[in-house]
Amino acid sequence: MRRKGKKNKLKVKPNKDQKQINKIENQTSGLLEGASVIGQASKTAPLAVIYRSEMDYISRCIGDYPNIETGGQLFGFLQEDGVAVVCYAIGPGKSANHQVTFFNQDTEYLQTVYNEISRKYGLRYIGEWHSHHQLGLAKPSGHDALTVIHGIQRHNFQNFLLCIGNCDRSARSTLNAFSFNINSITQYKHVPWRIIEIESPYRNLIDNSLRGLICHPRTTKASYGPNYILSAMGNASMVTPNYDEEYWLNNKNNNQVLKNIIDFLKNQGGATSQVKPFLDEEKKVHLVVISGNDNIEIYFGNKFPLSAPIFKKSNGDVIEPHVKWECGDNIYESFVTYYKMLNINVI
Ligand SMILES: [Zn+2]
Repeated sequence: MRRKGKKNKLKVKPNKDQKQINKIENQTSGLLEGASVIGQASKTAPLAVIYRSEMDYISRCIGDYPNIETGGQLFGFLQEDGVAVVCYAIGPGKSANHQVTFFNQDTEYLQTVYNEISRKYGLRYIGEWHSHHQLGLAKPSGHDALTVIHGIQRHNFQNFLLCIGNCDRSARSTLNAFSFNINSITQYKHVPWRIIEIESPYRNLIDNSLRGLICHPRTTKASYGPNYILSAMGNASMVTPNYDEEYWLNNKNNNQVLKNIIDFLKNQGGATSQVKPFLDEEKKVHLVVISGNDNIEIYFGNKFPLSAPIFKKSNGDVIEPHVKWECGDNIYESFVTYYKMLNINVI
C-alpha cells in the first residue's frame, strides 16, 4: 500500500511558509517515499553511534563548503532501543542546491544511491545531516525541526536522527546529533556520539561498488572542533577527537591495522566475544575485549608501536609482560606474535 501525503495529520493552513516546507519536503522526500518504517523504540534514543570513517567523511564534506550550507544522508540500522548506528554517510550530489541558509539534496542522486545501498547491503535510511557552516547555530532551526517532524509523521518513522554541522574559520567542524521519536515528536534531544574508532566495514565496500556514482568531498582531511562525545566510561563531554600528530593512527594505513587486530581478537574469543574500541580523554585508543563475564583491556599508548601495547585485567591490574615487545615492519603480525607469547587466558 502506498502512503502519500494524505496521511499527514497536521492540518496547517497552506500559508507561504507551509508552501516552502512542502516544497522542501517534496524535494527531499523522494527517498522517504520508497523507505519502509524503521525502528520500534517508543522513546527518544539516548545516544547515536557512528564509525570514525563516517565522522571524518562528514567533516570533509563540511570543509568543502565553509560559507554555505551543505548536507547529506545517513545510512545504517537502528538498535532495539532506537539508537541509530551510522554505517555509511553521503554528502551532496552534483545537482544539490547550496545556499547560505538552506540546503536541498540532489534527489535523483539520493534515490539512486539509496536504491543501491538498500538493495545490495540492506542498510536503511536512518537520518540526515546538514551544515549551518559559520552561522553560529549548532542546533536545528525551527524550520529544520518542522521539516523532520512532518516527514516522520507522514511516513510513520519511529526514530530519526538529524545532525547539524558547523565549522569555524579554520574549517574545524563539529557535528551535533539530535534524536527524534514519533511519540514525543517536539521533544527531540541533543544526544552524544559514541564513536567506533575504526573505518566502517561498509565504507570501502560501497565506495568501490558504486564507483563513479558517489560524489566524494574534495577536502582530503577531517578537522574537528569540540564534539559531544561519550567516553569509554559512559561520560558525555565536549572533546576534540583529532589524534595527536605523532599518534600511530594518524597514519591512515594503521586504521586498517587496528581493524585487523580487532578481527584477530574477535576470532580468539569465539562466537560470543566482542571487541569494543574506545578513545580516552588523551585521544588514545583502548580496546575492550569482552567474553562471557570477563574482559581485558588493551591500551595503545603514545609511543606505540615503538613501545608495547598494555594489557589490563578486568580489575584494572596491568598484566606484566614476561616477553619482550618487538615491532617489525608489520605492526599487525608483531601484535599477534606478542599476544600469543603473552598467552593470555582471560578470553
Ligand atoms: Zn538547518
